[in-house]
Formats: sequence, C-alpha cells, structure tokens
Amino acid sequence: MGSVKTVGTRMLKNNGSWIYCDDCNNTVAYLCYSHYDYFKYDYKCNCGNHGSIEVGSKDHTHFKPQLNELEVIRKRMRCPNDDSPLFSIVDKNIERFEYEVICKKCGHVYTEKI
Ligand SMILES: [Zn+2]
Ligand SMILES: [Zn+2]
Repeated sequence: MGSVKTVGTRMLKNNGSWIYCDDCNNTVAYLCYSHYDYFKYDYKCNCGNHGSIEVGSKDHTHFKPQLNELEVIRKRMRCPNDDSPLFSIVDKNIERFEYEVICKKCGHVYTEKI
C-alpha cells in the first residue's frame, strides 16, 4: 500500500481503520482496508480543527472517471459497480467534508464535497 499523509489527523493503522481528529480525538471517518486504490478526505471537525488524510497515490493510469455516486448503505459508502465497501463518514462529529476515492476493483473515481 502507498504512503499516508495527514494534517491534524491520525489513522489507527497504516492502510485503513478508524480515522481520528488530532485535537479532540473524536472519530471522523473509517476507511475499509482492502477496497480502495486511493483515498483523500478533508474535513472540518466540530471542534474547529481542519484536518485531512491522503492514502496511496494517484500516479496510476488505469483510473476511470466517475460514473455515478457512491451508494450509502448503513452509513458505509459503497462502489455502485461492484458493491465494494470503501469508507464511512462519522457525520455527527464533523461540520463539512470532501473526499476523493478510487475503487480498487473497477478503478472508478468518486468525489463529493458537502
Ligand atoms: Zn476535533
Ligand atoms: Zn468499484
């Protein structure tokens, strides 16, 4: 798995798991271990911290543009093409967020800003 870059944020393990705000230690997201090629997440925590995390790198060539939106099933964001669970957002702990994720199985890119 590629590199992990964080600002004001930490993740329990290097390739996925709970992601925490460094300032208040609340969870802000959960990244599933094995279904992504690339994950970038920016958020503003309820405590005021603005954090981000980037996992993996985008310097691949097989990525395809996004087709449609991720499906949300029980708060887990899933790729609509192959049903891969990708990540969850802990929306009660954050004010706003944006993400970019690339599904490992189908190579499609998904982005959203809220
Ligand atoms: Zn916080
Ligand atoms: Zn997919």
